[in-house]
Amino acid sequence: MQIIYDIKTIRHVIKQLKLEQVSIGFVPTMGALHKGHLALIKQAQKMCDIVIVSIFVNKKQFNDEQDYINYPIEIEQDIKLLAKEKVSYLFCPTSEEIWPEGVKTIVETTKLSDILIGKVRPGHFRGVTTIVVKLFNLIEPNYAFFGEKDFQQLTIIKQMVEDLNFNIEIIGVPIIREEDGVAYSSRNKLLKPNERMAAKILYQSLKAAQHEFTNGMRSVKELQNFLKHFIEKEKLAKIEVIDILEAKTLMTAKDCLKPGMVILLFVRFGTVQLLDQYILR
Ligand code: AMP
Repeated sequence: MQIIYDIKTIRHVIKQLKLEQVSIGFVPTMGALHKGHLALIKQAQKMCDIVIVSIFVNKKQFNDEQDYINYPIEIEQDIKLLAKEKVSYLFCPTSEEIWPEGVKTIVETTKLSDILIGKVRPGHFRGVTTIVVKLFNLIEPNYAFFGEKDFQQLTIIKQMVEDLNFNIEIIGVPIIREEDGVAYSSRNKLLKPNERMAAKILYQSLKAAQHEFTNGMRSVKELQNFLKHFIEKEKLAKIEVIDILEAKTLMTAKDCLKPGMVILLFVRFGTVQLLDQYILR
């Protein structure tokens, strides 16, 4: 695996790869890699000749500085893991390389970026879309892989790619969970043991919601209330967002519940905000 730290080298490598006419799959991450990231990489390897992973903790998408400072960094372990997975290239630039003094441009997918999680984390999705555009411009992938776990992010990126005519296919990869149902997340490492236990309530509530739907519940409001009461049973869980959405528009579902609608949870345990997501079947 070749590790690339700067823009000049990544541009040079991409130029060569384009001459060779290989297909490039790109997996952007913030590191502290886990099995969720690995699922994206494996999917990329299935579909592409070359896989490029990036690790970059993007300060522009953190609306809370302490959250940025606390974000786990495990670069040496990550490098070993990526080499073992036979990833071709790792791009891990410094913050100064990506955000030099004087940067003035932002990219924002309006309407989708300031609702739901964007309401709780103002500016977060603007930071995400701006870095993703920069990385797309540097890496020029044919395919880019994003987790369904970050469902709002995935929807925003798909919309952005359509709106700005990027010639890139965005592939959504289903959520990967630990044995007890908690979705893999780099932030899980920041949970205290009792908070990690408490986090199980998220998937339990999603499974219970599916059960209600299967047994005939069809009211969006009723299911939302059901989820709220279920999660509130766990005293350590502080709800930030519970919503049931139309998948493409991210609008709160108005009509009766239907398969394909998405339950989105954003819940805080101590100082750690966790996301979960479930597509009704
Ligand atoms: P992050 O490093 O947290 O920015 O995540 C990088 C990518 O991995 C994003 O596209 C996430 O949606 C995806 N991802 C993170 N956790 C999971 C998971 N448990 N299952 C599937 N994809 C995930």
